[in-house]
Amino acid sequence: MTATASEVPAEAHFRFFELEVLRTRRLGHSFLRVTFGGESLAGFRSGGWDQSLSLFLPVGDAEHTVLPSTDEDTWFGAWRAVPDAERPVMRSYTVREQRRTEEGAVEVDIDFVLHGDSSPASRWAGRAVPGRRIMAIGPAVAANKSVRFQLPAGTDAVWMYADETALPAAAAILQALPEGTPVHAWFEVPHEDDRLELATSAKAEITWIVRADSGPGRTERVLTEIRGTELPAAAAPYGWIAGEAGTVRAVRRHMVQERSVNRRAVRFTGYWRLGASEEQLLAEAYAGQAPSEDPDSAL
Ligand SMILES: Cc1cc2nc3c(=O)[nH]c(=O)nc-3n(C[C@H](O)[C@H](O)[C@H](O)COP(=O)(O)OP(=O)(O)OC[C@H]3O[C@@H](n4cnc5c(N)ncnc54)[C@H](O)[C@@H]3O)c2cc1C
Repeated sequence: MTATASEVPAEAHFRFFELEVLRTRRLGHSFLRVTFGGESLAGFRSGGWDQSLSLFLPVGDAEHTVLPSTDEDTWFGAWRAVPDAERPVMRSYTVREQRRTEEGAVEVDIDFVLHGDSSPASRWAGRAVPGRRIMAIGPAVAANKSVRFQLPAGTDAVWMYADETALPAAAAILQALPEGTPVHAWFEVPHEDDRLELATSAKAEITWIVRADSGPGRTERVLTEIRGTELPAAAAPYGWIAGEAGTVRAVRRHMVQERSVNRRAVRFTGYWRLGASEEQLLAEAYAGQAPSEDPDSAL
């Protein structure tokens, strides 16, 4: 029997890995897939679904990430003690896929949204070339707390909302759902060309929302689309919402208050927040201002 996340001591869930860029591939206007390898990935155990991990990016244009400590118990204090300008930037991403090659090596794909050169992760991905190495804290056991999509037994339908940052997670979820599961998904992307082909054996209806407004008006557009969709009747539906924090909050409020979905059967995570870098979100979380159920959440 596979252990569940709550049966494995939390400190054993994650450890440091060194990821080496093997190749990159453009998937659509906004997406760049970076495929990583490296010997340390032998111990990497993605739990699938929306498995996330934390990346540590090199300082400035350095080729590799150097961390002050990779000791699981003490790294955080050592990392925080580094002066701002010299501290490797930490960012949350999704394991789009983990696989084993014919030669037995482990490869991991991460799909980065390219949203400009002034944001560290987007900038790093846009310049990624084979041989560059970054550090990550990732899963050492498949049943870990960074898999948020937990399909309850008896679920008879799934609904999902994702923007482009959560599309890699949504794509992995669609790929893993049992055959024939009825799914309705709203996927919001910046460009027509970001409507990716998504493999699934679920019975998936996908509504693509191509964004016209990149400011606050985007949320209203999403709500209009969602309000206009009739979901098929289901006795035990499960919902998953991820993307920009303001839109995530509004979609959850709509589903819980206007459609009376069971709030316990909805998993929601803010992946980023308009106008705030991940450092600012972390600073709020440390100061206890982030009203979130989830340590990674931008809500
Ligand atoms: C659990 C989890 C999983 C995630 N998985 C992925 C993933 O697989 N792929 C992915 O691309 N992202 C993913 N994200 C989101 C990603 O962590 C954020 O977009 C992050 O802010 C990107 O870092 P950055 O250095 O590029 O920008 P930051 O320095 O953090 O932000 C700089 C500015 O850019 C804005 N910004 C951030 N992201 C975007 C965006 N996508 N479009 C437009 N403006 C933006 C911010 O509001 C801020 O104003 C995930 C987040 C979480 C919490």
